[in-house]
Amino acid sequence: MSQEAELRAKIVRMGSLLYNRQLAHGSAGNLSVRLDDGSILVTPTNSCLGFLEPERISKLTPAGELLSGDPPSKEYFFHMAVYEERPAAKAIVHLHSTYSVAASCLCHAHTGNALPPLTAYHVMRVGKLPLIGYYRPGDKALADAVRAASREHRAMLLANHGPIVSGSSLEEAVYAYEELEETAKLYFIIGDRKASPLTAEAIADIDRAFPS
Ligand SMILES: [Zn+2]
Repeated sequence: MSQEAELRAKIVRMGSLLYNRQLAHGSAGNLSVRLDDGSILVTPTNSCLGFLEPERISKLTPAGELLSGDPPSKEYFFHMAVYEERPAAKAIVHLHSTYSVAASCLCHAHTGNALPPLTAYHVMRVGKLPLIGYYRPGDKALADAVRAASREHRAMLLANHGPIVSGSSLEEAVYAYEELEETAKLYFIIGDRKASPLTAEAIADIDRAFPS
């Protein structure tokens, strides 16, 4: 099987997994992968991640022109911004999952990191999570904000919207997204109780042991 056929099948499998785990609903959310030749596969506009068809997945040039398949998600442009800025990124997951979106709707004391480092796995898989300001759906100015945040971050949270998570493979991006959603859930379960997040020393130790 060619790399492209394998990745099309993987997008369908992962879309179904995310939908069945109720991390995606309706036609919200989109997945993409970058092929070795630089072209991008992205889920089509108005498609439900639970019922994707491999041959209808959109294939785009690195500049975003449609090569084959259905028209891409209306949010494809911020996927392109991440790929442009992060050469190591091979896949992107963007969903509107409940706990992460809830975290994106809060007033945050500082926008450099929207969730506390509650667990080592969150630190390893997600890292710092900058909050990007609100943009209306389809506003292309969002691409510039995403591009700027992508320089130093593999994950970010769009205000009143949801996370964008990149990875070196679709599995890595999906697992990091799931870790982020679980941390957001823990954050709300803990609520107003006094939490004990990882110390700066503990985070530095993790970063040394598991450099990204
Ligand atoms: Zn979205």
